[in-house]
Amino acid sequence: MNRPHTTRFSADVATLPDAPYVIGAANGAQHAVARWEAEAALTAGRPGWLVGTLCGRAATVAPAWGTFDRTNPRFGSGYLTGRCPYCGWLVALEQNTEHAEIAALAPAADELPALTRLLPDPYLAVRICEAILASDHWDHDHPHRAQLLGHTAAHAPSLLLPEQCAEGACDEAAEHGTCSYPDADVGCPACSVRAGAWAGEWEGQFTTECTATSPCDVLRTLARHYDVQLGT
Ligand SMILES: [Zn+2]
Ligand SMILES: [Zn+2]
Ligand SMILES: [Zn+2]
Repeated sequence: MNRPHTTRFSADVATLPDAPYVIGAANGAQHAVARWEAEAALTAGRPGWLVGTLCGRAATVAPAWGTFDRTNPRFGSGYLTGRCPYCGWLVALEQNTEHAEIAALAPAADELPALTRLLPDPYLAVRICEAILASDHWDHDHPHRAQLLGHTAAHAPSLLLPEQCAEGACDEAAEHGTCSYPDADVGCPACSVRAGAWAGEWEGQFTTECTATSPCDVLRTLARHYDVQLGT
């Protein structure tokens, strides 16, 4: 007897990328899922293709989204892409690719002048992560370290731009080719309320009701603990 759902699931196993970690989707974020676990979930035809993520959530396997690593263009170069920072650091510590996580945390070249203007130190989150990595209280890939690193990354400052500037359609960009973002603001993506899935294409936007400034208390607390200067 032909059972359509069996055929469908086996086809999806075939599309799973050949990499240690693939992507699981949960609450608008992309998490790391061990490939063998994803394969087991698909093969078993588990309802909703539910699988456990590296950071301990339940997620739906998303084979078409590719691998969970920084080379996946889906993640872009920065941190505000919905990529789970806790999963990101767990994988980075296991695979010794901390440099890629640090690089993604550093301000982008076009954002650096505005962030330098708005923050005491635009590299504060980077310096905190470097201090955590330099401390030897825990084994290299201990989840305690990944949790601290992931928390720092989740609270790294985000540059908030007027829509026209974000799209490169403002007067300054038209005149000079680039924009120095004179009307930019800065906020903490984790402490602020950001629009949920209800907002459609605007999901993830900071709400006017609750945009928490940066550096937030989380970064300040971590900086104090690790003796990292806040900057001037
Ligand atoms: Zn995660
Ligand atoms: Zn502009
Ligand atoms: Zn925060």
